[in-house]
Amino acid sequence: MRVLITGAAGFLGSHLCDRFLADGHRVVGLDNFITGHPDNIAHLIGNDRFEFIRHNISTFTYIAGELDGVLHFASPASPIDYLEVPIPTLKVGALGTHNALGLAKAKGARFFLASTSEVYGDPLVHPQPESYWGNVNPVGPRGVYDEAKRFAEAMTMAYHRYHKLDTRIVRIFNTYGPRMRPHDGRVVSNFIVQALTGQPLTIYGDGSQTRSFCYVSDEIEGIYRLFMHGDAQPTNIGNPEEFTVRQLAELVIELTGCNVPIVQKPLPEDDPKVRRPDITRARTMLGWEPTISLRDGVRATIEYFRSLGPDRLRPRG
Ligand code: UDP
Repeated sequence: MRVLITGAAGFLGSHLCDRFLADGHRVVGLDNFITGHPDNIAHLIGNDRFEFIRHNISTFTYIAGELDGVLHFASPASPIDYLEVPIPTLKVGALGTHNALGLAKAKGARFFLASTSEVYGDPLVHPQPESYWGNVNPVGPRGVYDEAKRFAEAMTMAYHRYHKLDTRIVRIFNTYGPRMRPHDGRVVSNFIVQALTGQPLTIYGDGSQTRSFCYVSDEIEGIYRLFMHGDAQPTNIGNPEEFTVRQLAELVIELTGCNVPIVQKPLPEDDPKVRRPDITRARTMLGWEPTISLRDGVRATIEYFRSLGPDRLRPRG
């Protein structure tokens, strides 16, 4: 197969490139480096089955040659990004998805949308099955991401129903692991980088809010199987083991061996109180479930951040 992956230099996009290349496929990677980083794909340069194009998918996109798949992973994806680049976030979910769908249609390719657990907003149903419609504030700070992804899902289903395009939608829950940006702003990277640089761990609110953290290799395996063997209905891919943010902070302190204090900061607006995927669909349709425990995944992520060296971990000026 020859597939296009947008957001190829991002955290998930770059791991997905690796997964397709490992199975012998050809990959065209696209990224404009708004939040992605060339380091994430540096190891692929020189691989004759990998091509890279620096381009913004929110603008008209032409790709020469045949494509069997278009996987749309380009998007800022951290709450701090939505505040810094709200309009590009809206555009890549809306215009970027439209362009990627149009490209898939022109090539007769399968389309795969990276959607998100954020479509459930601050959920009133727990855990979240795909049938839950969500509880999203359209005009809050997270609305730019949540609503763009909800639009992207609607657009994908319209292309599926109206143009008979072969499509997939994955709803990705909190994922962590190597190649996250040290200053990504999300909780796993924040806590590990804070611990390794001797700073207090910043818990937002009282730390009783929950998340379910999936290690990147598990997430990528689920995504790959969904692309290959799934159907058009949205599918949750995430780890159903749920932890409070405070439990995560304590685990990071234990595993880094860094004796740093925990401090409380204000809870960001519209921060979901709970989040946990119901993965019954992925289990039955794909025979997939996560295999890496939070303890093992956090340990591997600590090793990754240590390997970057102290300069990369220092707080941004
Ligand atoms: N959080 C925290 N301290 C941090 C960063 C995040 O307590 O330094 C909290 C945040 O308020 C949220 C949870 O951790 O409740 C997960 O936040 P993240 O930004 O990783 O992703 P989200 O699931 O909110 O999109």
